[in-house]
Amino acid sequence: MYKERIQKLHVSLGIPKEYLEHSKQLLCVEPTQLVSTEPDFYGRRQRLTPEAFDAWSNMKQSAINDGVTVFLISAFRDAQYQHDLIARKIGEGRSLEQILRVNAAPGFSEHHTGRAVDLGTHDCDALEEAFEQTDAFVWLKRNAKSFGFVMSYPRGNAAGFAYEPWHWCFESPATEKEI
Ligand SMILES: [Zn+2]
Repeated sequence: MYKERIQKLHVSLGIPKEYLEHSKQLLCVEPTQLVSTEPDFYGRRQRLTPEAFDAWSNMKQSAINDGVTVFLISAFRDAQYQHDLIARKIGEGRSLEQILRVNAAPGFSEHHTGRAVDLGTHDCDALEEAFEQTDAFVWLKRNAKSFGFVMSYPRGNAAGFAYEPWHWCFESPATEKEI
């Protein structure tokens, strides 16, 4: 079961058992189907669900048509990836509490769903708050919703995550019904 797998990853990182039981966040489940995207900014292969990839491709083309450049920095990442990322930071001497303020615990990253993307543009360093000052961000704020993408972590978000203007998630109508 997915939840048991997540629990094991938490135990291995020293995350208390209660974290999974009592979290107010929704568990982010990995999809059954993923397709390859174009290479990301770093030339790495990325994956998304077929629906999210279609929506992203249409959105990116529409931005290009408006003279705006926006590209993928990251997309699907599984729970094991998230575990390894956090384990590496613990190894560097950071506290779990510190890490969980900026990195979701395994099972709680929207990137597990294959519907979340981290986006970048030419005139901004990757994954920086300054992304909010770019033309790409202004364009996304105005247009992303019509392609089904929402900014998951605006300032002061309920989940208590740090502000991430670069992180957008495709919410398929089916998923909204399930929630
Ligand atoms: Zn993200």
